[in-house]
Parts: sequence; structure tokens; C-alpha cells
Amino acid sequence: MATSTIVSNTENVRFSPPALDPADKTRSRDNLTTHSNTLQLLKYLALDQKGKVMAEYVWIDAEGGVRSKTKTLSKAVTSADELPEWNFDGSSTGQAPGDNSDVYIRPVAIFPDPFRKGDNILVLCETWDSDGTPNKFNHRHEAAKLMETHADQHFWFGLEQEYTLLGSDGWPYGWPKGGFPGPQGPYYCGVGTGKVYCRDIVEAHYKACLYAGINISGINAEVMPAQWEYQVGPCEGIQMGDHLWMSRFLLHRVAEEFGAQISFHPKPIPGDWNGAGLHTNVSNDATRAEGGIKAIEAAMKKLEARHVEHIAVYGEGNEARLTGRHETGSIDKFSYGVADRGGSIRIPRQCAKDGKGYFEDRRPASNADPYQVTGIIVETLCGGV
Ligand code: ADP
Ligand code: MN
Ligand code: MN
Ligand code: MN
Repeated sequence: MATSTIVSNTENVRFSPPALDPADKTRSRDNLTTHSNTLQLLKYLALDQKGKVMAEYVWIDAEGGVRSKTKTLSKAVTSADELPEWNFDGSSTGQAPGDNSDVYIRPVAIFPDPFRKGDNILVLCETWDSDGTPNKFNHRHEAAKLMETHADQHFWFGLEQEYTLLGSDGWPYGWPKGGFPGPQGPYYCGVGTGKVYCRDIVEAHYKACLYAGINISGINAEVMPAQWEYQVGPCEGIQMGDHLWMSRFLLHRVAEEFGAQISFHPKPIPGDWNGAGLHTNVSNDATRAEGGIKAIEAAMKKLEARHVEHIAVYGEGNEARLTGRHETGSIDKFSYGVADRGGSIRIPRQCAKDGKGYFEDRRPASNADPYQVTGIIVETLCGGV
């Protein structure tokens, strides 16, 4: 493939196994997909379902990825409450031991399915162990309690999800094989050949999110070539994590069809290349009210006091990203400022001007769990459950 190509692979391609570092758990997995014939598939997708509905149960796995499997329902549903609990083999996903392998999946939110369309749905689930406690990787349960307890504050979040598209060999999509494109500069919000990569995948994902009812608020190409961002929000309370997780599922699922891999690694390429974050924009009744800047200042004090606790749940490998360079603050030191992209937290210029609004926590890494991020912010600002 030419080095500056902007075209992703939509044809039938057989991939050979890529050479990846097996110790690097957050990098992409082997891509052994043999793409079959999409035109043939269309013929079957058009077949009548005889009133039955396909429900794709989606859950978060042990590695910050998503898994899913399908259940046939006898009729269409309009809410997650109407859906049965289900289970899966947790020993196959690293979520349970082999001698007690059942993990239960409980539907919590449903979305229209952009792949199967019609009455078919995507079902976001929480994972529960057989002893009735939340699975180790179920961070939603705790976050939902916090959101419920402090619901009267009306917390709004807006997440900026950055990610990198990789080819089947694990190298950023469109980059010269084993080499590097020109230095950063032309790529951020880039337009034109050689300045932007994989726009087709990004557009497909955007449309899929809109169809599914994800509260996606925009997209942009990022500073590093083959890196992109989309924003989800503002969403209130637990809905933030729900929408972001389903948007991640859609991204993996769409990219699968194009033969690309999604990396949420916070620093996919070491050196003079930007890392990837999950900037977290936050407001509540107090910060949005007249004079809300006072509440924002008070929030900074509280956040400063728990910097270490926040960093602990802001994503794995974040130390490679939060260096104080490439538009980040240092991982060891909390700082904030108006319009400061080199701090832990940025107060947008407009908010300082209006004397109210929201703040942007720039610390979370792209691979952070949004339930943990939004949960600890509410806990730090308002106290526990
Ligand atoms: P940046 O300038 O940092 O790149 P973006 O435009 O990418 O910012 O993202 C801003 C995010 O902030 C969006 O997801 C938006 O929904 C969110 N946002 C806007 N207003 C608020 C608010 N009052 N409370 C919480 N989030 C907000
Ligand atoms: Mn942004
Ligand atoms: Mn960005
Ligand atoms: Mn931002």
C-alpha cells in the first residue's frame, strides 16, 4: 500500500499474523480475520426475521475490551428491564476461574443496532459473579450508586475519546511500513491526501453511533497521523459511561469490517508523537449557575488533594503519556489554569469570561474506564455513597 494513501481496505483480504510484542497487553491483538464476501452477506441480511429479534449482548472484558454474543428474542422490546439476564464462560475471558466459570450478564441499556437494523438491538450489560457480587471488571455498579446518591447535583460529562487506527501488522494505518511519516503539524483536523488517514472508517463509525442513539457530539482528526477523536456528551450521570462504552463497541465492530484495529493505548508510538487521552469535561448545577467559577475553584482544591487516587484509575500506561510535554501535565503534579493545555485541568477561556460553566480534566488516558473516571470525580467533589 502506498505510504500516503488515505484509502482503507474494503476488499477481501487475507491477513498474515502480525509481529507484535506479546508482553504488551494494551496493544492490538493478532488480526487473523479472513474477510468474506460482503456482497453475498447483503443477500442474507435482507431476509425476513419472522418477527424474531436479534439482541447483541455486549459486556466489558478483563482487558478493557468488549465482548458480545447474540440472543434471539421472540418479540421487540423497548427497555432493558424487559430483557432476561444471561451468562457466559468467564474462564474464556479471564473473568472467572475454570471451576466456577459462569459470569452473569445483566442488561442495563439498549440501543438500536446499526448493523442488523430493524427491531434488532445492542444490549449493554453489567457483569456479575455467581455469588451475587459485581465481577472484578464491573465498575459500573459502584459508579451507578455514586451517580444515584448525588443525582440532585445534575452532573454532566463530556468525554473526548482519542484512539489510533492500526493496520493488520499493528503499525499505524497508512504509515510507511517500519518507518515514519513526516513530523506532526499537518495532521490535526487535516484535510487532503497525505494529511488524513482512514476517514472512511471514522465516517462509518460516526453514522453508526448516530443510528444507535449515542450522544456523539463531534469528531476530529488528531495531531498524530492515524489518530482520531470523537466526543460523547454532555451526558448526565451514569449515561456517560454507558454511551461511551457502546461507542467503543461500535468502533471495534466497524473497524473489523475494514480490516483495521483500534488501539486505545495512551502512548501508541514512543517519542515525539502525541499520546491519546480521554479528556473529561465536567459540570454540575453549582458550576453552571451564575458565579459558578467559585464552585470550579473549590473543585480544584478537592481534586488536587486526591490527585494520586485519580491517577490510579485514569488508565494503564498513562505515565508514558503524562510527561508534561505534548499538551499534557506531569503525572506527579496537579496543576490547573485557564486555557492551559499543559496542566492537569483546563478551565476553558469562555468559562473564565462567563464566570461559570465547566472544567476539563485532561489526565484520563484513552484506555480509562469512563465509569471509574466519572465515578471518582463525583466522589471527590461530593463524597461517597
Ligand atoms: P477541546 O476543545 O478540549 O478539544 P471538545 O470540543 O473536543 O473540546 O470537547 C468538549 C466536550 O465538552 C464535548 O464532549 C461537550 O459535550 C462537552 N461539554 C460542553 N459543555 C459541557 C458542560 N457544561 N458540562 C460538561 N461537558 C460539557
Ligand atoms: Mn477535543
Ligand atoms: Mn484531542
Ligand atoms: Mn480536550
